[in-house]
Amino acid sequence: MDLNELLRENLKKYSAYEPGEQPTEEGWLKLNTNENPFPPIPEILDDIKKAVNEKIRLYPDPTAFELRKEILNVLLREKDTLTNRNSVFIGNGSDEILDVIFKIFIDPGDGVVIFYPTYGYYKVLATLYNAKITEIQLNEDFSIPDSAFNSTGKLMFINSPNNPNGKSFGNATILKLCGSFPGIVVVDEAYGDFSDQTSLSLLKKVKNLIVIRSFSKSFSLASLRLGYALADAEIVKELNKVKLPYNTNYLGQIAALSCIKNKDKIFERNENIIKERENLTNNLNEFDGISVLPSDANFIFVKFEDKAKTLKFVWDLKDMKILVRHFSKPGLYNYIRISIGTKEDNAKFLDAFTKIANKYL
Ligand code: PMP
Repeated sequence: MDLNELLRENLKKYSAYEPGEQPTEEGWLKLNTNENPFPPIPEILDDIKKAVNEKIRLYPDPTAFELRKEILNVLLREKDTLTNRNSVFIGNGSDEILDVIFKIFIDPGDGVVIFYPTYGYYKVLATLYNAKITEIQLNEDFSIPDSAFNSTGKLMFINSPNNPNGKSFGNATILKLCGSFPGIVVVDEAYGDFSDQTSLSLLKKVKNLIVIRSFSKSFSLASLRLGYALADAEIVKELNKVKLPYNTNYLGQIAALSCIKNKDKIFERNENIIKERENLTNNLNEFDGISVLPSDANFIFVKFEDKAKTLKFVWDLKDMKILVRHFSKPGLYNYIRISIGTKEDNAKFLDAFTKIANKYL
């Protein structure tokens, strides 16, 4: 058997998404994958424990009815957005939602517009589905260039706040893109709960918009894999047709429901992350030779004047068991992305960073 003969043609040019490192042993300070530094609050862990019972022999609710209801009635109640339960889609993390969007819209050769730099999985999926990719370079300040308003295609992906730089694009720009783009604009708000901006309200104005949000970051549920999307009910109907039959699991649904019930407490605690983001930004900006970009997310993007020093920091931090994210990609070699930890995590990080800076900066 020749495996290459059997594999799909476009797998030959496909490079898989490279997730950040997830060490299995203890003792690492993980500031590399934008997880929430706080564990789920005890109320949520209790609800999950209570749900670990004989019911797990049953398949979960395939449409996550309760969760969709609570997302609209409680979680998004004050967000001035769609209110129809059939406008909510639940996915196995936002990543699955992105995949399902490709599944319903993209035939080989169809146009997909992606910005650069942004979350790498959009391009990975576009390659996998054999789309015709238009990659638009963001401006120097990571804003959207005017050329984007003339772009065409079936799908456009906007990550707001944008990973890796952390800034939101603003609803005026996004609304304008929904007007100029002939296809569907997907706004990925995986980090939306750390920002004071959201495109959820635009869903009442335009039909060619899908807004995706996640329980992984703001709700500390990354391992239970839950995301949701809001869109016109006609689009959601198609998404439901092609998703895996039981795409989310029972414990995840229970945990997400518990997060919604306890949302005020969780959002209050997340205020610490936002405060720490400002503290860490100010502290790092004190160093010569680096500057921190403004961020609305739970991470910051740090620019090094001297490209050669960037990786030295990454490796020395790793020697001290601290993981941060470096992207070996054009235009990004002299940046590192740092997820915001707890006050203690950030103090530990700053201490390590200062020691390294004394060597190199
Ligand atoms: N979108 C962006 C911009 C992300 O950074 C991530 C996390 N890697 C995801 C989506 C996927 O998140 P989830 O855990 O909800 O699949």
